[in-house]
Amino acid sequence: MEGNMKCAVLQEIGRFTIETVPIPKYGSKDILVRVKYSAICGSDVHIFDTGFGLKEFPFIIGHEFSGEIVEKGNEVEVLEVGDRVMGLNIDFCGECWWCKNGLWDCPNIVKTGIGFYEQGAFAEFVVIKNARLNFNVYKLPNKLDDRVGSLAEPISVGVGNVDAIEVKKGDKVLVLGAGIIGLGAIAAAKAKGAEVAVINRSKTRLAKAIEMGADHAFSPLDGDPMDWIINLWGNGIYAYHYGPKEGGMADIVIEAAGVPTTFRQAFEMVRVGGKICIAGTATELATIDPNWILLKNPKIFSGLSGNFAESVRMLANKEIDGDKLISHEFNLEQIQEAFEVAKNTKESIKVILKIAE
Ligand SMILES: [Zn+2]
Ligand SMILES: [Zn+2]
Repeated sequence: MEGNMKCAVLQEIGRFTIETVPIPKYGSKDILVRVKYSAICGSDVHIFDTGFGLKEFPFIIGHEFSGEIVEKGNEVEVLEVGDRVMGLNIDFCGECWWCKNGLWDCPNIVKTGIGFYEQGAFAEFVVIKNARLNFNVYKLPNKLDDRVGSLAEPISVGVGNVDAIEVKKGDKVLVLGAGIIGLGAIAAAKAKGAEVAVINRSKTRLAKAIEMGADHAFSPLDGDPMDWIINLWGNGIYAYHYGPKEGGMADIVIEAAGVPTTFRQAFEMVRVGGKICIAGTATELATIDPNWILLKNPKIFSGLSGNFAESVRMLANKEIDGDKLISHEFNLEQIQEAFEVAKNTKESIKVILKIAE
């Protein structure tokens, strides 16, 4: 498509400007998407604050978006102009054995794509390279609007975690951290019929966790989390009565905060033979007593991958009420203010930008 588009350019750490630039070019396997809504991710805030993970300055970031296909390359199948879609930021090569077999293990991913290494979605148009339906592009059903559709990517992580660890009806699930991953996991676990407890410092976020269905919520500002979880679900002693005299009885712990305290708590609060999902990204080392593994035999899962199809389905069916997760909406010109709000994670949940009608 010829012509220009409006976009937000991150000029340097902490400073956006609104610019007019040419609409991006695309290749024969790519699609051109007119962006409707873009959500601000925690990693965008991290880039805004530190420049971490970014190819270069100036750069157009943003990778959580909904939009409509306006043009496509001549080798693109199945996807059509007019389809409403969400994309993701992983740049698959599309050529290797794994890509051709629909697997996620492409060894040629050297940099993450849209918003990190390729032009991002804080712009009126974005290109999805090597576009393949239900792989790196997902269609939004009619009953899922563009606004909530922009949350399908961030929600996919919590949804994918709950799926991967096979949460069942009646499971006692403890979620440590009520960021967007934790909140998505809470809603997804409730949809499976689990009993869900959450621990998080911010009371705004705890209130949101309860809105998303959490049965029990606690802030460490109000006391000792270990005492709280033992009062709630009982004292789970370690195998052979070795080790500490106190332990939690959670069937499943989803660690979604990424700090040393919560990594430790995950092992302390899971019951013997329970499951731990590590979904938080650690920025420093955490200390774990190996005896907690020896004497509790927890099954440990990585929370890295999301389930996009399930996320879209649950948002569309209102099994997860995405509207409740959007705390603030701005237009593209207000991006600087939007980022200041998103940085205040005690008060904001998900901040989104309206890019087009
Ligand atoms: Zn993200
Ligand atoms: Zn590949």
